[in-house]
Amino acid sequence: MGMKYQRHGTWVYRDRRWPALRLAAKRRDGFKCVKCGSRHRLEVDHIEPVRTKQELAFELINLQTLCGGCHTKKTRRELGFPELSPERRAWRDLLRDTTRNPIEHIGVKDA
Ligand SMILES: [Zn+2]
Repeated sequence: MGMKYQRHGTWVYRDRRWPALRLAAKRRDGFKCVKCGSRHRLEVDHIEPVRTKQELAFELINLQTLCGGCHTKKTRRELGFPELSPERRAWRDLLRDTTRNPIEHIGVKDA
């Protein structure tokens, strides 16, 4: 506590316990998003955010595997941002269709 972080939770991802823990979480979740089943851009999320529950930062039970899309949604909700605008939603659905009928891989970053 009392330290200032560039970005909330950054210290967790620099901890040397994190890589093994992250892998353990993905393995437990079958290398897919626990919300939607996607295997695309998987990230390991803290169910109770690190910024409010630091003591759970390295607890496997507090981790869940999310795809990039679900993770972005959860983070936005936690930060009090509204859901995606209709424009962004349309764009996302378009990308999803592209993924379903792969022509070529397009790298797109959320946020
Ligand atoms: Zn997902």
